[in-house]
Amino acid sequence: MIEIKDLHKSYKMGNSELHVLKGINFNIKEGELVAIMGSSGSGKSTLLNILGILDEADSGNYILDSVPIKNLNETIASRYRNKFLGFVFQSFNLINYKSALDNVAMPLFYQGVKRKERNEIAMNFLEKVGLASHSHHLPNELSGGQKQRVAIARALASNPKVLLADEPTGALDTKTSYEVMELIQGINDEGKTILIVTHEPDIAAMCKRNVLLKDGLIIDDKYVEQVRASSYV
Ligand code: ATP
Ligand code: MG
Repeated sequence: MIEIKDLHKSYKMGNSELHVLKGINFNIKEGELVAIMGSSGSGKSTLLNILGILDEADSGNYILDSVPIKNLNETIASRYRNKFLGFVFQSFNLINYKSALDNVAMPLFYQGVKRKERNEIAMNFLEKVGLASHSHHLPNELSGGQKQRVAIARALASNPKVLLADEPTGALDTKTSYEVMELIQGINDEGKTILIVTHEPDIAAMCKRNVLLKDGLIIDDKYVEQVRASSYV
């Protein structure tokens, strides 16, 4: 599903250059649930942004679902993002003046899906994350865990090939984090390929594979015995 080879990325600031990714290699197969770990500043978000076609590497290869991702103009990049990828962020990134339902329906609007069908699909995904009864709530009328559930429903609504989540539990308390991870595990059980950035070992243990970044390189990459979040909840 994802093949990356010798990926490099630097940030230029004035005269200095910060070499953040120094030759990253890995492949992710369909149906994997991967945690990307590493200390603050190790390049996790930089890597996720490149995988999410929000940024581009300076060199190396990135192939997503057999499509080479290179030198794309913004129109094509945005088309590929909508087609292949769903995003979940630490800070939820919901639109404050729109209801849960409208937030989830948003990506479908951009895909040109008609209103009635949009709302039906969005409602199905809200049901899936256990929030059908909160469809008319605004984000500030939801708890943190509920907001993240809405964000996950929104990321799934366009049926992406891969779900990318940057610290999806970073703003949540421990119990709520486990509940969100239980949801993510359930979505992965249904076959969705999911990549999570986290610095929490407990959260990584709930994934199937742990990749460790340090100083711009992968220093460890292993399959682990997956801990079920439901054993904590
Ligand atoms: P955290 O766990 O704190 O989120 P991270 O592993 O996600 O850290 P990145 O955000 O990928 O780290 O940043 C890696 C390095 O690149 C950091 O030293 C950061 O300061 C730098 N950096 C990130 N984005 C930019 C940018 N747009 N311009 C310049 N430097 C950047
Ligand atoms: Mg980060």
